[in-house]
Amino acid sequence: MTNSIPQMVVGGAGPAGLTAAYELAKRGINPIVLEAGARVGGLSRTEEYRGYRFDIGGHRFYTKAEEVQQIWRELLGEEFLRRPRLSRIYFNHKFFNYPLSLKNVIGNLGLWESARIVLSYGYSQVWQIKPEESFEQWVVNRFGWRLYRTFFKTYTEKVWGIPCTEIRAEWAAQRIKGLSLISAVKQALFGSNDVKSLIEEFDYPRFGPGQMWECCETRVKELGGEVELRTPVRTVRHRDGVVTSISVGRDDSVREIPIDQYISSVPLNQLIESLDPPAPPAVLSAARGLKYRDFLVVAIVINQPDLFPDNWVYVHDSEARVGRIQNFKNWSPDLVPDSSKTCLGMEYFCSEGDDIWELPDADLIQLAAKEIENLSLARTADVEDGCVIRALKAYPVYDGEYQGHLNVLREYLSHFKNLQTIGRNGMHRYNNQDHSMLCGLYAAQNLLGAKHDLWDINTERSYYEEQRVDRSNEVST
Ligand SMILES: Cc1cc2nc3c(=O)[nH]c(=O)nc-3n(C[C@H](O)[C@H](O)[C@H](O)COP(=O)(O)OP(=O)(O)OC[C@H]3O[C@@H](n4cnc5c(N)ncnc54)[C@H](O)[C@@H]3O)c2cc1C
Repeated sequence: MTNSIPQMVVGGAGPAGLTAAYELAKRGINPIVLEAGARVGGLSRTEEYRGYRFDIGGHRFYTKAEEVQQIWRELLGEEFLRRPRLSRIYFNHKFFNYPLSLKNVIGNLGLWESARIVLSYGYSQVWQIKPEESFEQWVVNRFGWRLYRTFFKTYTEKVWGIPCTEIRAEWAAQRIKGLSLISAVKQALFGSNDVKSLIEEFDYPRFGPGQMWECCETRVKELGGEVELRTPVRTVRHRDGVVTSISVGRDDSVREIPIDQYISSVPLNQLIESLDPPAPPAVLSAARGLKYRDFLVVAIVINQPDLFPDNWVYVHDSEARVGRIQNFKNWSPDLVPDSSKTCLGMEYFCSEGDDIWELPDADLIQLAAKEIENLSLARTADVEDGCVIRALKAYPVYDGEYQGHLNVLREYLSHFKNLQTIGRNGMHRYNNQDHSMLCGLYAAQNLLGAKHDLWDINTERSYYEEQRVDRSNEVST
């Protein structure tokens, strides 16, 4: 079937794509949003299993962009909750406050180990590693070997699946730059050991982040737009720097849609591979050089009302494969249909095809149930049920080559007159929802005459890193 009306089309119904569509729809333009998956929200969707709702990783809503805050409030109003936040590091069967507090560290590690940490820090300040090329060297130069081994190495290696010696120092500098050593030391010396004092607040929809995006989908439709689920963009046809049409749909229902303007939040490598005629070999090779880290969450239902007060904990023990554990009822009690139970999200960082990714769901649930007991956070016998959600391309990887590849792709795409790429994987950027939304918003405004440079968004990251890193060693959301 051929649709004869040229269209404003958006590829992908994650935060970026839906925000673009929402802005267009509000301005009286009816966009078509094409989404490959069965529900909207992308990585920020909320999955549901027997009434238990859970995120693909817990999703805090935090932004400094007024436009974004306004859209969140406009869409959800009273359903957008202010929630208390507590997240700690779990290591060696003990909870560590973050930022570290001296009392808490000494209490957990003992005087002897704490003294060794201080000595090792002193040593690293006198004998700096030069040149400073890897993540490991960057952290050791600033925190010393022992602190690095206790609080940075294991978790970072779980997230990225490669040794810290192979992660570039530049990445550490970008991710950890907000953490001032002076304030860390001050906090360690004078910081409180009281769990209550660590509690901050964040915004969160009553029924999880997916509620925001399901609501956005409804509004786009009410305003005259279309959102088609299970409709992947397959081929992007172009001529003389203009996208002319795209073919969409599953094998048995492929159709062609003429394009007036195309906004794509589809992963950049996929977009390039889908071009017809194909992109030049150098561009294809750059696209194939982009790397990703995948992720899966095993949601387990536990027959216990209260396990720990944190929204999530970072698991630093190297024997446990799980990297982080979400406690969803602490995000919002409405995520759990029965308050006598707890639903935990056991998060495994992995890569498509590796041993964890390939495990059958039943084995993953068994592994999660075993690990939660090994960590002494719950009993295997109390795990009643579970389900597994796999997320491909959860993290765009910033390796040594990605910037070069990205430059090639940006240069090539800049010659297209009616194509804008937006979003986390659409631009291979480590975006949170707010930055992806800004891309979508600005792309829509560009179609209405604005001249935003979308590649300028999320280049000044320090505010969020400060907020994230100094609270919780979150080198990885
Ligand atoms: C574990 C984890 C924790 C996170 N925590 C936070 C947090 O606390 N706070 C926060 O703000 N952000 C967080 N994020 C980041 C957040 O998930 C992303 O920034 C956001 O979802 C990006 O939105 P997007 O629209 O750019 O991309 P995505 O969410 O990836 O959406 C892209 C959409 O495009 C669709 N698509 C792909 N290919 C095609 C195709 N060929 N045709 C049609 N559709 C296609 C996908 O199915 C998807 O729905 C987290 C991410 C992860 C992985």
